[in-house]
Amino acid sequence: MKSLWNDAEAAQFRGPLGPRVYTSRLLGRDRSLVLHGGGNTSVKLREKNLFGEDEEILYVKGSGRDLETIEPAGFAPVELDYVRRLASLPALSDPQMVNELATHTLRAGAPAPSVETLLHAILPHKYVDHTHADAVLSISNSPDGEKRIRDIYGDRVVVIPYIMAGFDLAAYCAREFPKQAGKRTVGMMLLSHGAFSFAAEARESYELMIELVSLAEKYLAAQKAWSVALPPVAVSAFKREEAAKLRNEVSKAAGFPLLCRCNDSINFLSFARHPDVAHISQSGPATPDHVIRTKPLPMLGRDVAAFSTAYRSYFHKNEKNAKERKTILDTAPRMALDPQFGLAAFGRSAEDVGIVEDLYAHTIEVILRAEALGGWQALDDRHVFESEYWDLQQAKLERAGSPAVFAGEVAVITGAASGIGKACAEAFLRRGAAVVGLDRNPAIESLWKRADFLGLVCDLTDVKSIQKNLDSLVKHFGGVDMLVLNAGIFPSSQAIQDISAQMWRDAMSVNVEANLLVMQACHALLKLAPSGGRIVVIGSKNVPAPGPGAGAYSASKAALNQLARVAALEWGKDGIRINTLHPNAVYDTALWTDEVLASRAKAYNLSVEQYKKNNLLKTDVTSKDVAELAAEMCGPLFAKTTAAQVPVDGGNERVV
Ligand SMILES: [Zn+2]
Repeated sequence: MKSLWNDAEAAQFRGPLGPRVYTSRLLGRDRSLVLHGGGNTSVKLREKNLFGEDEEILYVKGSGRDLETIEPAGFAPVELDYVRRLASLPALSDPQMVNELATHTLRAGAPAPSVETLLHAILPHKYVDHTHADAVLSISNSPDGEKRIRDIYGDRVVVIPYIMAGFDLAAYCAREFPKQAGKRTVGMMLLSHGAFSFAAEARESYELMIELVSLAEKYLAAQKAWSVALPPVAVSAFKREEAAKLRNEVSKAAGFPLLCRCNDSINFLSFARHPDVAHISQSGPATPDHVIRTKPLPMLGRDVAAFSTAYRSYFHKNEKNAKERKTILDTAPRMALDPQFGLAAFGRSAEDVGIVEDLYAHTIEVILRAEALGGWQALDDRHVFESEYWDLQQAKLERAGSPAVFAGEVAVITGAASGIGKACAEAFLRRGAAVVGLDRNPAIESLWKRADFLGLVCDLTDVKSIQKNLDSLVKHFGGVDMLVLNAGIFPSSQAIQDISAQMWRDAMSVNVEANLLVMQACHALLKLAPSGGRIVVIGSKNVPAPGPGAGAYSASKAALNQLARVAALEWGKDGIRINTLHPNAVYDTALWTDEVLASRAKAYNLSVEQYKKNNLLKTDVTSKDVAELAAEMCGPLFAKTTAAQVPVDGGNERVV
């Protein structure tokens, strides 16, 4: 591990917090030091208050802030003397401690100070850096871990046994630090938790952290426990319906829908097939810090019921020792190790799924290195429980409120690169769904760069292309809950006697047959949607009120409408509902070129302007209006409705 310090870069970070922000970001850049909001840093500054008096302020990372991207405002200023004194109290509950930190923060609107603030306060040094370094975890969670740590660092670090983060840990360190610390002390190692470094200057403190962790890495290398690449294994063919079934069962166990990502990269797959996986994956997490996101253990294989039973007994066994009553969390796994899928990660959002994947990738390395040192030794499940059911975590859950309406669900939208399809993608994203956009336009792939959107190039008239894309999207998000059949073409206006065979076939191929193919391919997946499958068909006003010159278009949309009605009849028993929207005069879409607009206006003997607002409400109908209703049709308002046809057209006198 190398120091990333760069003088030119450092010079850009000005002000009293500049060096603190800079080296915090340097720590955050290295995933083997801190992951997803883990770790924290602080600086003690002397400042004048409004009365001109000197005050010592501890600027400490705000809870939930990420070191990699932290700004000065991400640090909470707390009264150092007061906070330091707290650690000398004989007892303090963690909720009380959080209250004291909040009431002794000196800036309105500052983030809540880290729950590890007291640890920073009791250390006498100006700069304090704290990470959950993988290399240190590997060593402390191996046989004679504590002795190895003492051998590596000698009197350069203070060694603290495992105690859960919070008041008790800080109070213990406040007593123990002065006993162990000497002239050479530059750090503190918390067994099964992480490392502290400290110094008078930001750069020195940061570089001491790099040095301490490098020593751990060198030790692992000397013990032949550094390179732990797993042997390559052959990837199995992905079976999307099996993955969707697994996601269905895990969601049912959770009591709410979860996304699922199957990652068969070599490391995950090889670990899932490791001859000793039953032992090494089931001993415990790398650090209790992760359990709130990952649950203590991954599920081995796909027996969700057995996992839930084991989780319940872990809860009941440990809740007896808890100081206050605990409420059991859902019993569903957040990770599964499967010889075919590799790692299946579950979460309520795409971001959560990514975090679970990252945490377990690091856990695997920590485990394998400890194994190479003589055997992975995880913390006792009593400690794991204490962290998972910490009253601060339970309070956070109570405050969390209800999730977005489509959290944990997947919406697939055809023709999503523009117009109504793109607006639908936005409407579903706003409601918390993971969205897959299918389009023949390659622009779909880069429409948005966000974890909850996947854009795939698809020829909807080609079964092979549909199958291939369904494999990709199920691997990525776990299934299909909602399907918006939006893609369509509007052939140029022709009187019936002038419609070419090709134009007719194109309209039927894209507007009817492609939708049939997508529905057929998605049926098994929609059936496995944890909250029931939903389809919204973007029909047309032309179904109830066809227009002259639009023979191919009107006939194709009417055929699609009839197909949807039959689907409602056939698929109701599978819990799949299908409803149709009939938009009209939505002019902010690619279909409506100036030429099409002029020719349609002419067909009705109207000017373009008259034609645009030719509805009872004399209103504009936009893509967004249609998209919002499409999303609502998949939500609870329409839970008992199937085979409905709803106009979105401002009111049409030929339809009422
Ligand atoms: Zn920590």
